[in-house]
Amino acid sequence: MEINKELDGYWLVNTAQKGEKKFQRPEQQLSPVNLKTTGLWLDVPVEHLSVEKADSALHTLEHLLHIVIPWQVMCERSDVDTLRSKERSRIYVFDNYEGGVGLAEGALGNIEQIIDRCYEVISSCACSGGCPSCIHIPQCRERNDNLDKESALELMAMALGVERAGKSGSRQTSLRSGSGREEGRAELRLEARALAAKIGQRKLVEKAASGAPGIARKLKVSSFHQLNNYDRHLIAVTYLLHLEVGPVPAGVVVQALSLLSVTREGKMFDLRITELRRMGIVDLKDGHVSPAPKMLELLDGKEECERR
Ligand SMILES: [Zn+2]
Ligand SMILES: [Zn+2]
Repeated sequence: MEINKELDGYWLVNTAQKGEKKFQRPEQQLSPVNLKTTGLWLDVPVEHLSVEKADSALHTLEHLLHIVIPWQVMCERSDVDTLRSKERSRIYVFDNYEGGVGLAEGALGNIEQIIDRCYEVISSCACSGGCPSCIHIPQCRERNDNLDKESALELMAMALGVERAGKSGSRQTSLRSGSGREEGRAELRLEARALAAKIGQRKLVEKAASGAPGIARKLKVSSFHQLNNYDRHLIAVTYLLHLEVGPVPAGVVVQALSLLSVTREGKMFDLRITELRRMGIVDLKDGHVSPAPKMLELLDGKEECERR
């Protein structure tokens, strides 16, 4: 990995004036620092979050990795550093030494355990918006602004639950419990567990994917026959997931669709969901998709007829 660090400027903060801040260019240009080192990166699925929430959730996860990895590989926090790419929704963790000293490499082998511990750190703190005992770190270049505990928790519950259910059983049983002495802490953990259970079922996604072609065929002979194949499957998957859990995180719909191989185009979902929403066929609220009432009525009606 090759890291280029350049000082663009800095914020001059007036602490006496309610933290009023002004961006300043340095008077003297500093030459950029170039570091050739070893590192790892994580691609984080954030499709179900809005753009702002995605970045702050990513930033929060970046902090958690910066906190947990040094514990795991036994080094100082300043021995490793992190960066993130909003565009790629990717987090980089690298050794802060020329040539690398094997820290990030060591973390790679334990990455699942590390993510478990990240989840533990964030879900076991009783604070609401993040604090120095969970996600705030002095190394942050953004003064611990732009962090979002709630979205990060959702992101992680999903990543752990959905991605790993197939490998290691359902998430709600493998979540380790802490002391649970404080009420707030226990509540948060329960909430996280419910979330993981609700959206973290690989089985649910598979079930929706297997039922979708049937529903899509019904749509083809309905008053919505003008819809294309992708749209019909998108609606079918949304309908089936909605039957089970109510409004569905968009990322879960994308997962189910990916099992159906109706398209390889990654951007398709965003484009079509916007269009279907405009047409009043689906609803999208806080990153959760549900069939609009008229679609629900049509499909519920069809199901009824079948049963009779
Ligand atoms: Zn906290
Ligand atoms: Zn930060």
